[in-house]
Amino acid sequence: MTTTAPHADPSVQRHDPARDPLVDARGVVKTYGDHTVLHGIDLQVHAGQVVCLLGPSGSGKSTFLRCINHLERIDGGRLLVDGQDVGYEQRHGKLYELTERRIARRRADIGMVFQRFNLFPHRTALENVVEGPVVVRRRARAAARDRGMELLDRVGLAHKAASYPAQLSGGQQQRVAIARALAMDPRLVLFDEPTSALDPELVGEVLDVMRDLAADGMTMVVVTHEVGFAREVADTVAFLADGVIIESGDARQVLDDPRHERTRSFLARVL
Ligand code: ADP
Ligand code: MG
Repeated sequence: MTTTAPHADPSVQRHDPARDPLVDARGVVKTYGDHTVLHGIDLQVHAGQVVCLLGPSGSGKSTFLRCINHLERIDGGRLLVDGQDVGYEQRHGKLYELTERRIARRRADIGMVFQRFNLFPHRTALENVVEGPVVVRRRARAAARDRGMELLDRVGLAHKAASYPAQLSGGQQQRVAIARALAMDPRLVLFDEPTSALDPELVGEVLDVMRDLAADGMTMVVVTHEVGFAREVADTVAFLADGVIIESGDARQVLDDPRHERTRSFLARVL
């Protein structure tokens, strides 16, 4: 099926990963029935950048991540990941809706880490990490296990490879979830409040892993209320309220000297 507006301009130039953003949202609109949740989101994320999204509950942060991750179709504007419209492919200058199968293939290139860790409860930490590469990427199990052990080591959990999720703390489970996301060799990792469900004393170990990942050059979009982390790690901070980005820019500028009253009052509440 071809589509017309709002995706009306398929005449994009050839995508240049060195120059063009990995995520390019231009006026992204998302509605549920007659409820408009995203009112035109503009955001660019370049390869290697960390962007933190802040904003009150219900402002559309999760919805926006879900759009980037092909879990929702957008209703207006344009959303490009790696130069390709999310949910569509371009052939002969026209946009065609992707089949579910093709969407799943593209989604495999994006890692997602949720507030709740969503590990398979009846599988060990290592089996959780190995599952995606074996089932989706069709990697040989032995090679996937070797790589899985490397990744568990990277998140400091090689010694827990044989443990089941219920035997791990929340922080450890979340670190396994991060290793699981990395096992797919993602181009981009989306984090949706990855530390919000954790006891305060476990937040630091998860943020440390994310900090290492950022230092290693991973492209990350992080929804978080951890202002300290955002200040230290993010290149860009965007503040969302009521489905629009009210202000965005250099992390320190937005966090230390916000221009908008709503950003200011939000920060005063979470700090
Ligand atoms: P945030 O992550 O910033 O808290 P969400 O993206 O979860 O915000 O939600 C934004 C708004 O969209 C909320 O008003 C929520 O009720 C609504 N919403 C989210 N998902 C759905 C859905 N599947 N159907 C209808 N409304 C939804
Ligand atoms: Mg949310």
